[in-house]
Amino acid sequence: MAGTILEVVLPAILAFIVDDIIPTENKNRIIIWGLIMALFSFGAWILNVVANRMASRTSSLTIQNIRQDLFERSMGLSARQIDNISVSSLEARMTSDTYVIHRFLGATLRMGIRSVMLFLGGVLFCFYLSWRLALILVVLVVPLGIVIRYVFSRVIRLFNDVQKKLDDMVQVIRENIRGIRVSKALDKTEYEKERYLESNKAVAQAEIKATDQMAIMSPMVNTILFTGLAAVIILGAYLSNKGLILTGTIMAFLSYFIQITNSLMGLNRMFNIYNRAMASSSRIEEILTMPKDDNQVIEEVLELPKADKNIPEVEFRNVSFSYLGKSNNISNISFKVYPGQTLGIMGPTGSGKSTIIRLLLRQYDVSAGEILIRGINIKKLKRSDINKMFGIVFQNDFIYRATVRENIDFGRNLSDEEINTATIHAQAMEFVGEKEGGLDFELSSKGVNLSGGQKQRLLLSRALAAKPEILILDDSSSALDFKTDAKLRQAIKENFSNTTSFIIAQRVSSVSHAEQILVLESGKMIALGSHKELLESCEPYREIASLQLGDSKEDKKGKEVAYGN
Ligand code: ADP
Repeated sequence: MAGTILEVVLPAILAFIVDDIIPTENKNRIIIWGLIMALFSFGAWILNVVANRMASRTSSLTIQNIRQDLFERSMGLSARQIDNISVSSLEARMTSDTYVIHRFLGATLRMGIRSVMLFLGGVLFCFYLSWRLALILVVLVVPLGIVIRYVFSRVIRLFNDVQKKLDDMVQVIRENIRGIRVSKALDKTEYEKERYLESNKAVAQAEIKATDQMAIMSPMVNTILFTGLAAVIILGAYLSNKGLILTGTIMAFLSYFIQITNSLMGLNRMFNIYNRAMASSSRIEEILTMPKDDNQVIEEVLELPKADKNIPEVEFRNVSFSYLGKSNNISNISFKVYPGQTLGIMGPTGSGKSTIIRLLLRQYDVSAGEILIRGINIKKLKRSDINKMFGIVFQNDFIYRATVRENIDFGRNLSDEEINTATIHAQAMEFVGEKEGGLDFELSSKGVNLSGGQKQRLLLSRALAAKPEILILDDSSSALDFKTDAKLRQAIKENFSNTTSFIIAQRVSSVSHAEQILVLESGKMIALGSHKELLESCEPYREIASLQLGDSKEDKKGKEVAYGN
């Protein structure tokens, strides 16, 4: 504010020098007033630099806080809430929406305050210098305001359109980059090029349209402005001839006139940024104020008892669940798994295998029935108690850009020995040992510098390293060759005999050793029993087993047949 006030006063000082000081022909006074002007300019410059820096700092720090809050809140969202918002929208809110707010804050603190002061100061001084000339201003401000608003409101719609087209284009890029291997393999590159060309063209067209409109703005505003300036000069000359106004006043008046126009343009820009910022801020607010998911409350906290071989470690009692509250994605599932036992889960894709695991981890709450851990309903256990029990390898689990050691340790401060042992058990040592630096080998994000089987073994090391009480492997050995898979099973059997395991697998050989195998189809359990029992009683299981294990003495090519694929 102080910087802008100094700036606003400058033309008035100029008028004073031209009208009152120069005619006295007193050199000293002219020099003194000249110096005062220089001082004001210098002061305005310094203060504006300080103001800009402060504005930048404030907006950056504010956004830092908002991003942190958003991140923390997002981490606490339930799986259902994330389903509703969608991961990509969450990403956008944390990145581009906060960026819009950043720009808005920066702009308000600099341009916003400055424009208001320049406008008010300009109008005040115009009236102070000459109310007659100021009347021209009054006549002109109205059409000027209308033009600026009209053009901007049209342009903003067009720019929104550009944004939408840009979103579409990004979508096409995303799909293509992710699927680049597939499109190359299927020789679809030409087709994809065409598709990209279309969306790329659409963005360019929309941009051209918007900037075409924008181009009208400047000449129109200039026409009005220069008409006004011409009117000021003509009326000023007339008044000056009559001795009603002095030359310096006209000069200052012209400066204020331009200043007012600029401030109007600035205010208008602010208005547009404000509109976008309001949209973004409500998207951010939605996340920050999202209530805790009701389904996830802990009814009554009970201590988690020690494992007891007579009490099922995990029990599902008539569990049904639906993601969207419509038809059940799994229905009426019941089983008991005692400590140290293994439950294999098999079934075609989409039959509800992963859903069972998500319910066990209480990422979602059951729609009907009960899930018990050591005889206690999981709704009565502390979340941290539940989480501590599990070691998990999800399908397509995440590998971070960090060393092998950090990826296995996962912030748990495990000792080197624990990490080494887990790596050996997970059959990962063979390849980790060959990498440069061993455990200190740098992995790329998502583990792109590893093969599929290596990734799975690394993730297994992570799951095993915490010596979990319940181990969950969701399709986590599908990329291992049969020999490594067998060695892995042997290692788990020998070293984790007290660990209760859930193994989701496509291969019969991965679960055939399990005490029980649950066979699912469209969310229903069609069989539960040991490998032997199922071979006798469950036709679909027998079929897939004979294909994969070659029971019917068919040749080895059957070995790669996976359940349901
Ligand atoms: P599987 O692990 O056997 O391949 P899932 O347990 O992942 O199957 O899925 C079971 C069913 O639930 C499928 O029909 C799937 O489309 C649906 N489903 C899975 N996740 C969600 C979700 N987040 N929202 C809605 N439906 C889902």
